[in-house]
Amino acid sequence: MSTALKERICYVSRSDGRLYPGTDYRFAGDDGGLLDLEFEAAFPRELIAARPPGMWRDREALPVPKDEAIVSFGEGFTPLLPVEVAGTSVLVKQEQLFPSGSYKDRGASVLISHARSIGVERVVEDSSGNAGSAIAAYCARAGIACEIYVPEKTSPGKLAQIRSYGASLRLIPGSREDTAAAVRAEAARDASVSAWYASHSYNPFFFHGTKTFAFEVCEQLGWQAPDALILPAGNGTLLIGAALGFAELRRARVIDSIPAIYAVQAARCAPLARAHAAGLPSVTDASGVWLADAPRPAVRDETVAEGIAIATPVRGNQILEAVRESGGSFITVDEPEIRDAHRAMTRCGFCIEPTSAATIAAVPQVRSRLPGAARVVTLFSGHGLKAPEKLPG
Ligand SMILES: *Cc1c(COP(=O)(O)O)cnc(C)c1O
Repeated sequence: MSTALKERICYVSRSDGRLYPGTDYRFAGDDGGLLDLEFEAAFPRELIAARPPGMWRDREALPVPKDEAIVSFGEGFTPLLPVEVAGTSVLVKQEQLFPSGSYKDRGASVLISHARSIGVERVVEDSSGNAGSAIAAYCARAGIACEIYVPEKTSPGKLAQIRSYGASLRLIPGSREDTAAAVRAEAARDASVSAWYASHSYNPFFFHGTKTFAFEVCEQLGWQAPDALILPAGNGTLLIGAALGFAELRRARVIDSIPAIYAVQAARCAPLARAHAAGLPSVTDASGVWLADAPRPAVRDETVAEGIAIATPVRGNQILEAVRESGGSFITVDEPEIRDAHRAMTRCGFCIEPTSAATIAAVPQVRSRLPGAARVVTLFSGHGLKAPEKLPG
């Protein structure tokens, strides 16, 4: 790929294929359609092997042309450790070890690097937890002003980390959806003066950061794909990124097949698992708005796996598509299963948050569907000190 091409990275609309310059302050197409990036990744293995361990070693696969723009803490290349779960061994990527305590740093590093490369001075983002912390940390590192919108009811513990990075907090009354609407209104007010929406669910640069999870797993397995992945599915920030990453590796002929993706939802908030079971072709319109007849969770936000309690994920269609195309499926786990998995992992010395235990709780169900020798990869998504009051006693 020529440098000239790489320097003109474009957004491409999922609804009508229209292209928009990557320098635009936008998070959606003119028709409201969700955006992807037009970008081709390359994997020069000898160059990669000669670089320090970290997510930026896959340099030619990341859509940030200029090195000077990179905002990084030297993060990534987390260990991939065999862990015994319910009598079987799975490979668990230690994503709780990121600078802000979750894999969201992968997305934030690429997204905020892009923001710096196009001269953004102020970003807004909505999150009640780890995405907000990650964006706030990378903005602090980049010297970009940052404002995080959160639901008024968010627990004070979660706000402390965001505030400590110097971000300002906007507490919005009402639901999580009301917070999202408030931040979109702010970002859209007037593109020339208003803030850039550093969204982890809308902005495709975020997914081009989380895709490095796939590159690292592949390299750590000797440039081979595992047989199956067990991934969390709320907004799908890791799931969509991992699917993208493995698709890029296949397109570049590094691997010839992609792993089956098992997407995990808490039984108490499982809109996508229900849509999949019902064989629904789609759950949202082109703008990511949840369809009136798509399933909604009966009990909301009442799972201990709060990080994946997303009732109406904007990229729901993409998550369904990624899982179906991979030959995988959806798995639901109930509250006692999540709590047991959380305790089992902390008792083995892994300090993780309850949301991270959901994927671990799904291991026996996934194992029962696969041949015994299948190589299964999952992750610890967030650090236990994110929610110390929820650690097993
Ligand atoms: C963000 C996150 C997830 C996955 O959630 P998505 O909404 O699917 O992106 C899982 N665990 C933790 C700790 C997270 O922060």
